[in-house]
Amino acid sequence: MTGADPADDPLPMAERKMRFLYALRSRGVTDSRVLSAMERIDRGAFVKGLFAERAYEDMPLPIACGQTISQPSVVGLMTQALDVQPRDKVLEVGTGSGYQAAILSLLARRVYTVDRHRRLVREAEEIFRALDLNNITALAADGSFGLPDQAPFDRILVTAAAEDPPGPLLAQLKPGGIMVLPVGQSDAVQSLIKVTRGETGYDYEELRPVRFVPLVEGLGSE
Ligand code: SAH
Repeated sequence: MTGADPADDPLPMAERKMRFLYALRSRGVTDSRVLSAMERIDRGAFVKGLFAERAYEDMPLPIACGQTISQPSVVGLMTQALDVQPRDKVLEVGTGSGYQAAILSLLARRVYTVDRHRRLVREAEEIFRALDLNNITALAADGSFGLPDQAPFDRILVTAAAEDPPGPLLAQLKPGGIMVLPVGQSDAVQSLIKVTRGETGYDYEELRPVRFVPLVEGLGSE
């Protein structure tokens, strides 16, 4: 729309990114390693089509296969709660756009990410290659069973909501390991839970209300 009111012009990119980081901080993302990873990974690379324009706003957006890329501040808070260490092997369940996995890849030694939609896995892999993120392995699989071939994991992040923490994921967490996941009915408000595996059992901490798409069994049709 040439000739439109200049007030309608989109903000310059630097300004948008500054606001993006400000929104993260003001919503409680304070860990400097998480903030710098989120500064380096361009969310714009993971949002296509109509909604690309809104990639730097703190809101979830639609992606292919009827799924969503999570709200950036929620990505930040989940990553912060996961307390990833540089030597960690991390499993993410729910690749979606690949955005969360890309952020994890800057903080961990190795990231495995699985999605039940092959198309999302394929598209995310292309972005990882383009961004030269080569410590991520993306696979099409039902993540409620974890990834037995690569287990155990230091950290597990689930980005789709189950009614309860899936047993195989609890089993695939190393002692001392942390899992962060949304738990609850898919059409209601869910709780973000942090599970820490001790030497003898699991400790559960409820972090905040969240809303995620449901964890669905089996592989998707595309
Ligand atoms: N982390 C993503 C957002 C995830 S949306 C991002 O950064 O963009 C949730 C994703 O979980 C969807 O892509 C959905 O296909 C996937 N999903 C749902 N159930 C699953 C299951 N059982 N196994 C693997 N992936 C699943």
